[in-house]
Amino acid sequence: MKRHYPPGTTPLSSPEEYLEHWRRRDELNEQDRRLTERYRSLKKENPKLAEKVMEELQALTRRQNAMLTEYADRLPIWLHSRCPFCGEPLYWKIDPFDLDGDWWHWRGIQGEWIIPPTCPHLFCVDGALNLEEHQPTEVQRRVVWMASEVPFVKPRLLELGNVIAVIHRLPQKIAGRYTGYPVVYFGNPRPPLSEGSLGWARTEYYDENGMWLIIYDVQDYDLDKWIAARKVCWLAPDDPEHPLVCGLPEDYPFRDVPGRQRPYTIEKGQVWHGYPADGRTGGP
Ligand SMILES: [Zn+2]
Ligand SMILES: [Zn+2]
Repeated sequence: MKRHYPPGTTPLSSPEEYLEHWRRRDELNEQDRRLTERYRSLKKENPKLAEKVMEELQALTRRQNAMLTEYADRLPIWLHSRCPFCGEPLYWKIDPFDLDGDWWHWRGIQGEWIIPPTCPHLFCVDGALNLEEHQPTEVQRRVVWMASEVPFVKPRLLELGNVIAVIHRLPQKIAGRYTGYPVVYFGNPRPPLSEGSLGWARTEYYDENGMWLIIYDVQDYDLDKWIAARKVCWLAPDDPEHPLVCGLPEDYPFRDVPGRQRPYTIEKGQVWHGYPADGRTGGP
């Protein structure tokens, strides 16, 4: 199994370790708030002292960034998919502890999150998150952007040539109560990344040059025609090995998943409509 933890890294493996990590993070954030306030009040009347406070703030920012990197390095890496062209499993980072962690936030898109692709066919890691009718009250720090509660495909991506979507249901719950459905697109050949789409819990995607792009792709929940055309496969949910299945429409195992069939956001524990999935683009 390929699990790309950096050397010497201990993955976060229990809710207690996770809480301890966030206790340290929140402490630094609180210091940041206090120092920023102090800097503002000193700026006019005592610029010399203000400059000292600024230096402290900069040192604090370095510690905060180091903690973010530590979080990213220690995130668990789970099986998300299997390439239908070469069979390589795709292991990907995830924060299974809490929706308030950076992984779930729209800005959580820096290099720290990227795991080297396991095969040349990997195109886009998308997904759905089913809240299972729970109120996600723990989301307080920032905003979560989600494409859907029910697994879906983006027809535009499937029509980019030899592209196949693979749907998986993560066997362990997120935060003990939500269900994650990675929807991963593979291409042979893989289309250019500029033709890609927003990834799971992301509001931007990147081309080969690192340029960010936005598109609110149309989402299709009627998967039968795609399955019949061999454009949608899945991982067998009940087999502990989760092998790849490219089967008949009637065998599709996630047919009756209830929930929101549209983008939603979570802010301060409340669920709202996201931007409609109408094909609109945004951009730099
Ligand atoms: Zn492959
Ligand atoms: Zn399993």
